[in-house]
Amino acid sequence: MLVERRKTKKIRVGNIYIGGGAPIIVQSMASLSPVYIEEVYKEIRELEEVGCELIRVAVPDKESAEALGELKGKINIPLVADIHFDYRLAILAIEQGVDKIRINPGNIKDKNHLLQIIKRAKERDIAIRIGINSGSMPLDIVDKHGGVTPEAMVDAALRYIDFFEANDFGNLIISIKASDVITTVKANRLLSDSTHYPLHLGITEAGPYVEGSIKSAIGIGILLAEGIGDTIRVSLTASPTKEVEVAYNILKFLDIRRRGPEIISCPTCGRKEVDVENLVARVWNKVKHIDLPIKIAIMGCPVNGPGEAKDADIGVAGTRDGYAIIFRRGKILKRVKSEEVEGEILHLIEGIE
Ligand code: SF4
Repeated sequence: MLVERRKTKKIRVGNIYIGGGAPIIVQSMASLSPVYIEEVYKEIRELEEVGCELIRVAVPDKESAEALGELKGKINIPLVADIHFDYRLAILAIEQGVDKIRINPGNIKDKNHLLQIIKRAKERDIAIRIGINSGSMPLDIVDKHGGVTPEAMVDAALRYIDFFEANDFGNLIISIKASDVITTVKANRLLSDSTHYPLHLGITEAGPYVEGSIKSAIGIGILLAEGIGDTIRVSLTASPTKEVEVAYNILKFLDIRRRGPEIISCPTCGRKEVDVENLVARVWNKVKHIDLPIKIAIMGCPVNGPGEAKDADIGVAGTRDGYAIIFRRGKILKRVKSEEVEGEILHLIEGIE
């Protein structure tokens, strides 16, 4: 790993740890209320299969809170209840056995209500994520800073941390999110300098699949590359499984965590001997479910192919007349028909496994 991570406190969430040198946890959020228990369960199972390690569910009302216990009993990954405004929902969720709750103290105004949440979380020994969002900041802090600046968001976070610590609660994870990449990056840098609690990273309301993925990759990626962040959630207006895939790609391309294959492919040019886009799609379709962290290079021609892709575990380069050469770490192994490429790659992967 090339990135040196900043040291944070280790916090247990169900059967995993966040911070303190634990692997960066990939999380997502269910797209339905837990009231729709079978649908949510199915969605979480699919998410588990693509590597989701922690799932958050929105708890908008009493019925949702009361469904959490049954949902928790069905799934394998830690369950987090996302609570806004109503402290009673937080207490109900804790009683239902969730592994963590996420609250924004900015929208639970009454300190006594927060104290009741803290008391119950202590009794059950569960963590709380304090989530600061740019849209719900304490007004006095916004006034002091002349707007929702990164400094203002960090001030808000530190104020809440002080309150929890003053009440003997340090089982915390902190997030500061804005839909603006630069604000999020600056705020998390400052926060990381000011607290030892693990940080949950994300760009809130990042947008549709392509735009949201790019925005998240830039924002989360900059911070991770600086060693900041202990768990990530990519927020997309798309299927949650896509969020998890994008999150793993961010970790993979920063060489922080590898899960599954990486495809390296050329942009193509006038020398190409094969439809690279089609070949990439065919190969990806065959290998995307394999857990092995291997690099597969797919190049349009042999001119630079094996040389440029010599770091790849397995490589393919199109050659004339519908053939392709297969190579391993830059060394040519054989020449096969183009339609045999996927089979050859799978065969070589079996050898690596
Ligand atoms: S590998 Fe060949 S086809 Fe692809 S960009 Fe390089 S020269 Fe062009």
